[in-house]
Amino acid sequence: MSVNHFKDKLALKGLKVTPQRIAILEAVHDLNHPTAEKVIGYIREKYPNIATGTVYKVLEVLVENDLIKKVKTDKDIMRYDGIMKSHHHLYSSDSKRIEDYFDDELNLLLKNYFEKKDINGFTIEDVKVQLIGKFKEKDLF
Ligand SMILES: [Zn+2]
Repeated sequence: MSVNHFKDKLALKGLKVTPQRIAILEAVHDLNHPTAEKVIGYIREKYPNIATGTVYKVLEVLVENDLIKKVKTDKDIMRYDGIMKSHHHLYSSDSKRIEDYFDDELNLLLKNYFEKKDINGFTIEDVKVQLIGKFKEKDLF
């Protein structure tokens, strides 16, 4: 995705378009579900002097404006996701790897299932499935 694409995303949300915000948004998209530390490392190649606090603040602003999402791992490590389309995750049980999993058939199945269930006093807004297992190819992470 181009820099202009990220500029548009920020502008559409009425956010001030700054080089740091663009770079951080881009980093979350380029890296695979990065932690804040990973984002900071990546950003510092371009902006060596950017403060850690700034990166955390920008990440928070991006989350609040639905430009990125937080993904929590079972080890409670916060990671970030640039894909806003509803999707599930594949978690490696022996590494830190997380991959996106898209499955419209599963989404439909879950939607129909919970519509029938009609859980008392609870309105479902989203269902996320965490699949935990091992990737066949050797983990690179
Ligand atoms: Zn994801």
